[in-house]
Amino acid sequence: MATTSSLFAKALRKSPWVFHVGTSGCNNCDIEIADCLTPRFDVERFGVRLVGSPRHADVMLVSGPVSRACREPLQEAWLEMPRPRVAVLVGVCACSMGAYRDAYSVTGPVDKVIREVDPDAKFVYVPGCPPKPETIIMGIVKLLGEIR
Ligand code: SF4
Repeated sequence: MATTSSLFAKALRKSPWVFHVGTSGCNNCDIEIADCLTPRFDVERFGVRLVGSPRHADVMLVSGPVSRACREPLQEAWLEMPRPRVAVLVGVCACSMGAYRDAYSVTGPVDKVIREVDPDAKFVYVPGCPPKPETIIMGIVKLLGEIR
C-alpha cells in the first residue's frame, strides 16, 4: 500500500492543468470540486491548476450526467484537448448517470459519450454522491499515473 509521502512524490512529478465541465448534474459535485480548489484542501500543492480552455488542459474534470444539450459541447471540448489527456469523472452521475438514469433529457454517462469520438480515451472514476474532497484528490493523484 502506498504511503502518503510516496503519493505526494508521485503527484509532484507532473503539474496537470485542469478544465472543469459540469454536464447538468445537481451542482453538489461542483461545490465539492470548488472545495478542492480553495485553500482548505488546496490541490495546487500537487501542481494542479484550473484553466479556462480545454486547449490548455491535460485533464478534464467532469461532474453530472450528459444531457442532450451538453453532448456535443462536451465532445468538442474533449477533442480540443491536447494528448495525452485524461478525464476524471466526479460523482455517480458522471460515472454511471446515477439518479438521472431514466431521465428523458440524459443521453449517457460521460465515458460513453466521449468514447463515441475518442475510443481510446482514458478515465478515472470517482464515485460518491457527492464524493468528498479527499476522494476527489485521490482521483487526481491516480490520474497522474494515467497521464504518464
Ligand atoms: S453524483 Fe449526486 S451530488 Fe453529484 S451531480 Fe449527481 S446527484 Fe448531484
